[in-house]
Amino acid sequence: MGTGLDTTEPLAGRKIGVVAVQGAATPHLAMLRSVGATAWAVRVPADVDGVDGLVLPGGESTTISMMLERNDLWGPLGEAIADGVPTLATCAGMILLANEVVDGRPDQRSFGALDVTVRRNGYGRQVDSFEADLDVTGLGEPLRAVFIRAPVVERVGPDVEVLAEVDGGPVLCRQGPIVASAFHPELSDDTRVHELLSW
Ligand code: GLN
Repeated sequence: MGTGLDTTEPLAGRKIGVVAVQGAATPHLAMLRSVGATAWAVRVPADVDGVDGLVLPGGESTTISMMLERNDLWGPLGEAIADGVPTLATCAGMILLANEVVDGRPDQRSFGALDVTVRRNGYGRQVDSFEADLDVTGLGEPLRAVFIRAPVVERVGPDVEVLAEVDGGPVLCRQGPIVASAFHPELSDDTRVHELLSW
């Protein structure tokens, strides 16, 4: 588990852009900086220049979609993701990467870079938020995960590796340089999800 500014940290010195047009960018920035990464907020196209990695945080995917449009970020971010820049997408971020979104708003867009079908707010109103201890492939100790109006992953494509499940449903997936979680790994002091990427 990553704590402190140790240069043996996998994230130390990495230059990571955290998309910050709406939603939970601040805790991602704090967590990445706590393990020695150089992390900055991505708000305009020039902020994408020189990134070693990207984070698409949680928030409201419909609003993030609209703000990416307004800030001319769909192009530069889409190119970086298509070029294989390691990308961590959490909750709304996962929705923004999914190549199929159920219960989305008709005008919301997606990068289509992750071969999954997600249902927005799929866990339903009665369980808007919950926490679970996850057994994650490749990690030892269980990971405490916070879910907030999380998407349900209803289908995964053949190139998607499921790293953790809740009740048989995928909640943490990897497809090449992309790691996507239905939960909020930035809302704890456990940096292991961020470290799953080979930034
Ligand atoms: N329900 C939100 C959406 O549809 C995602 C929630 C979150 O990111 N915590 O975008």
